[in-house]
Amino acid sequence: MERIVVLGAGESGTGAAVLAKVKGFDVFVSDFSAIQQSQKDILDSYSIAWEEKQHTEAMILNASEVIKSPGIPDKAPIVQKITEKHIPIISEIEFAGRYTKAKMICITGSNGKTTTTLLTYHILKDAGLNVGLAGNVGKSLAFQVATENFDCYVIELSSFQLDNMYNFKADIAILLNITPDHLDRYGYEMQNYIDAKFRITQNQTHDDAFIFWNDDPIITKELQKHKLHAKLYPFAENKAKDVIAYTDDDNFIIDLSDEALVMAREELALTGTHNLYNSLAAGISANLVNIRKNDIRKALKTFQGVEHRLKYVATVRGVRYVNDSKATNVNSCWYALESMQTPVVLILGGKDKGNDYTEIENLVKQKVHTIICLGVDNSKLHSFFDGKVPAILDANSMNDAVDKAYLVAHKGDTVLLSPCCASFDLFKNYEDRGEQFKECVLKL
Ligand code: ADP
Repeated sequence: MERIVVLGAGESGTGAAVLAKVKGFDVFVSDFSAIQQSQKDILDSYSIAWEEKQHTEAMILNASEVIKSPGIPDKAPIVQKITEKHIPIISEIEFAGRYTKAKMICITGSNGKTTTTLLTYHILKDAGLNVGLAGNVGKSLAFQVATENFDCYVIELSSFQLDNMYNFKADIAILLNITPDHLDRYGYEMQNYIDAKFRITQNQTHDDAFIFWNDDPIITKELQKHKLHAKLYPFAENKAKDVIAYTDDDNFIIDLSDEALVMAREELALTGTHNLYNSLAAGISANLVNIRKNDIRKALKTFQGVEHRLKYVATVRGVRYVNDSKATNVNSCWYALESMQTPVVLILGGKDKGNDYTEIENLVKQKVHTIICLGVDNSKLHSFFDGKVPAILDANSMNDAVDKAYLVAHKGDTVLLSPCCASFDLFKNYEDRGEQFKECVLKL
C-alpha cells in the first residue's frame, strides 16, 4: 500500500489525511506542535495514525509522497530531509484536485483574496449552485472532496499553497494584484513570489479562464513573459482595449455577453475602490459559470461584507464607526482612507513591519483631523505624522482609543480603525483587535 505522510494537522492537513485514508492509502500525520483536540477527534474517527510535538523521521522518510501544510517553510529541517530523499512534496489542494471533477474557481493575489472568495461564493450559492467554499477560508478542500459532492468549488489560494501545486488546474483563475509580501519566505526575491502567484495559471487550456487586474503593472509585465493558453478576462478601473469589466463615474459594467451587466456603483454592497475590483472579479467569474445577470446583481447588492474588513459597526451620536482591523499593511489602509467620504478620526498603530507611511500621507492630510496611536511603541508614528494633522493622541488600550475617539469626533465624522500594522503587541491577532473595537463602540 502506498504511504502518504501529512505534515501539519491543521484544517488542511487533517482534511488531506481523511481524503488519503478514504482513498485507501497508508496514512500518517506528523505535527511538530500540539494538535488541537478537534483535529485529533477527526483523525481518530477515521483511524488515522498521528504524532504531535515531534517528527519521527523513520515514520516520515518512508513515504511515497508527502502532503505539506502551507504554514511549514521549505527551510524546516524535516522538509529538507524529505527533499534530499527526493520524496515528492505536494499541497493539500494538489492532492484533493486528483479526486474531483468539480469546476474549480481559484482566487489569489496579495490583497482581497478572502473578500473576493466569499463574495463569489455568495453569488453562486444564492443563485442555487451546488457549490463548496475552500482553501484559506472555509473547510479544507480535501475534506470536502472526501465527504461531499459539490459541482463547483470557490477556493482561496495563498502563494504558499500554490508553491506545491504541479498538475492541479483552475478552470477559472483570478489574480487580483501583486504587491510585495511574505518576501522572507521567498529568499527576499520578489520574482520568486511573483512566480508563485502565476502558478495559478499553470495547466490551463483554451477552455479555461484567467481573470486579472489589468491596472497592475507587475501582472501586465509578467503576462508578456508567459504564453498562457487560457482565455483572458482583464478587468480595470476604466474602459480600455480588451478590458471586459470596468467602471465609469456612476456604473459598474461587465461586458461579457450579448448584453452587458450594468449596475449603479452605489448599489454595490461593498464600498471602496478596492472592493470595486473585488466585485468586478467576482462578477466576471459568476458570469462565466452562467449565473443570470439579475442574480449576480442581486447578490452584489446583498453581500454582507467580511468581518474586520472595512466593516461598519454602528453610528453613535451621528459618528460612524468602521472596523478595518485586517488592514495590517499601509496599502490596505490607503484603500480604506480613499473610500472615506467624511472627516476621519483614524486609529492606527501596532507592530510596525518596517512601514513607510508616505503612501498614506496625502490622504491623511486631506481627510484625517485626529490620529490616535494605539501601540506599545508609537514613536515612529509621531515622528512621521506630528505637525501633519491637527491632533495626534496616544492610547494604550482599545478602550482608551475608542473613548478618546468619542471625545474628539464631531457629528458627521467617521472613526476608522485601520491600523497599518500587525496586532501582536496589544492583541492576540487582528480578529481580537477588531472584536475589542466593536465591543468598546457598542458600549459607548
Ligand atoms: P486577503 O485575504 O488577501 O488578506 P482580505 O479580503 O482579507 O484580503 O482583505 C485584507 C485587507 O486588504 C483589508 O483591509 C481590505 O480592506 C484590503 N483589501 C481588500 N481588497 C483589496 C484589493 N483588491 N486591493 C487592495 N486592498 C484590498
